[in-house]
Amino acid sequence: MVKAVVGANWGDEGKGKITDMLAEKADIIIRFQGGANAGHTIVNNYGKFALHTLPSGVFYSHTTSIIGNGVALDITKLFNEIKDITDQGVPMPKILVSDRCQIVMPYHVLFDAYEEERLGGKSFGSTKSGIAPFYSDKYAKIGFQVSELFDEELLKEKVKRVCDLKNVLLEHLYHKPAIDPAELLETLHGYRDMVAPYVCDVSAFLDKAVKEGKTILLEGQLGTLKDPDHGIYPMVTSSSTLAGYGAVGAGLPPYEIKQIITVCKAYSSAVGAGAFVSEIFGDEANELRERGGDGGEYGATTHRPRRMGWFDCVASKYGCRLQGTTDVAFTVLDVLGYLDEIPVCVGYELDGKVITDFPVTSKLEKCKPVLEKLPGWKCEIRGIKKYEDLPENCRKYIEFIEERIGYPITMISNGPGREDIIYRESVLKR
Ligand code: GDP
Repeated sequence: MVKAVVGANWGDEGKGKITDMLAEKADIIIRFQGGANAGHTIVNNYGKFALHTLPSGVFYSHTTSIIGNGVALDITKLFNEIKDITDQGVPMPKILVSDRCQIVMPYHVLFDAYEEERLGGKSFGSTKSGIAPFYSDKYAKIGFQVSELFDEELLKEKVKRVCDLKNVLLEHLYHKPAIDPAELLETLHGYRDMVAPYVCDVSAFLDKAVKEGKTILLEGQLGTLKDPDHGIYPMVTSSSTLAGYGAVGAGLPPYEIKQIITVCKAYSSAVGAGAFVSEIFGDEANELRERGGDGGEYGATTHRPRRMGWFDCVASKYGCRLQGTTDVAFTVLDVLGYLDEIPVCVGYELDGKVITDFPVTSKLEKCKPVLEKLPGWKCEIRGIKKYEDLPENCRKYIEFIEERIGYPITMISNGPGREDIIYRESVLKR
């Protein structure tokens, strides 16, 4: 059985916690897209961890953690992360890296920074992890696959060819130092030796696992609105964040994905630039940011303060639809307990009309939020285990949002820990 855990919105919905929780009953957890530019924060018995490259299953000894072919693999960061968790007492996880996975090169990270510098005020707010230059090169067919590290002839020729090209840009566009091909080849030899014990034909491994009835979790990064096709282009990430891409980025048949768990946060947050219709500012935003998540809404990778907003039914309905949601996991609900009234964005006003279908970016920029206020519950809901035991106004908030987005909320997360979860039967059909 293959399940996907993906985000409905701009990322940071709490996917890490939900994957970590579901990983308890999984055999294999696989990352299928993105790189070390975003991160999950996970709180468990070992402590609090920010994972950027490793799948969230690494804390269990019974699981195999896989870096799929769709991922932008930064080998140095991967190994630093493994060291980080093992230094903190986590047993060495079983890790496999797809032989078809491509590698983030040192120059990708540099080009990312140089391009942001060149764009100045018009920059995309990149995390400068090399992700956009990496995916550009992948599709321009000048990327380096893990398998290629093991073919010395090919590697030498390709390093030279790619350096010739990159050095023209470095010299004439960015006015920066050139790459030395010999030095780059050395670095790649180092990567080869580091990654060698983990390299695997992942699609063959997964094919066998599916036939043996293993439980496989596909772990997404960011959310629908950061998808390059269906998100707020161009303020998006460079690989697809959709469950559908899970099949491609892991190497599985699409029809094997039986459950798509879309994670939705009980309020909104976003990082980077781009339209964010339900955004709030000033003291209202500061208070939600400080109370949000587990210790404040700050980026797991960059520690940048996140932009804050109320729950957006328009964006979330769209986000769930594009994922092909079978289940919504509604997270971080406990944070809202301080509010007397909770505004919810139920529509967008565009050119004098109210719309509830998420528009293309150029129209989105002109949208204003239509807010409806729901009564708050004014108490702590952490520790509650049963849906019926939640305060009435809290259940009303959940049911109101479920009706507006049109997808069944079957899990409610009321705290950062694995055990902070309430399962619920929904009246909505999957
Ligand atoms: P991800 O990238 O989607 O995994 O999201 P993040 O790691 O950025 O975000 C979620 C943050 O919220 C982390 O600090 C989690 O520990 C925390 N978190 C997750 N679920 C809950 C919850 O239900 N309640 C609270 N208070 N924090 C949560």
